[in-house]
Amino acid sequence: MNAPPARDVVHLDDVRRVYPGHPPVRALDGVSLRIDAGEMVGIVGPSGSGKSTMLNVLGTLDRADSGEVRIDGHDVSRLNDRQLSALRARRIGFVFQQFFLSPGVTALDNVADGLLYTGLPPRRRRQLARRTLDRVGLADRVHHRPHELSGGQRQRVAVARALVGTPSLLLADEPTGALDSASGAAVLKLLHELHDAGTTIVVITHDHGVAAELPRQVHIRDGRVEADERTDRPS
Ligand code: ADP
Repeated sequence: MNAPPARDVVHLDDVRRVYPGHPPVRALDGVSLRIDAGEMVGIVGPSGSGKSTMLNVLGTLDRADSGEVRIDGHDVSRLNDRQLSALRARRIGFVFQQFFLSPGVTALDNVADGLLYTGLPPRRRRQLARRTLDRVGLADRVHHRPHELSGGQRQRVAVARALVGTPSLLLADEPTGALDSASGAAVLKLLHELHDAGTTIVVITHDHGVAAELPRQVHIRDGRVEADERTDRPS
């Protein structure tokens, strides 16, 4: 067990997360899942199926009650909170439905802030932020503040912020949920491009249309994996 295959970015083995109550809720009820480096995977399920709990466990925001959780080779249960924060900051990029950009702060600085933990000097952080904004197609919007950007552009900034530190895993929680269909499609296209360039991406969604676009779909229901499917997608 102490020599896991080096390149599975996510390795869950019989993971359980139970919320206490009467009766207790088994939000994750024995989930085993491997995601290799470079994969693009949708975690799909209806409301209440355990998606957020899964996101929190994958993102090391919450700990499993039992089972093994390895993220980028690290056994999460063996890390203290400080080590866990470091793992999260360095290895995981988050994209949320609601963007969560800092208001009144330019796109450039929103993205550069994704590197605060690195100790890099501000100039270098901005240089990398500019490069990443260029990568997501926003080279001409670096000085715009969030309120001066469209929803789709805001989400691109959020993707750039998640990506600027070159994480091992990009976790996107309903990334198109707050967007109109054209902007949503553009953000999905961007995620596909990042995947084609080698980024490992997990998209959490209740939207079967979004999921159908992804090369692999893990369906969860009542805290269990009920299907794990791959779609051949014309490239
Ligand atoms: P989803 O994101 O798919 O809607 P969740 O992971 O939020 O699902 O929830 C899975 C189950 O766990 C649901 O039945 C939900 O009611 C329950 N649940 C989620 N969070 C808590 C909590 N903090 N306390 C108790 N039950 C919870």
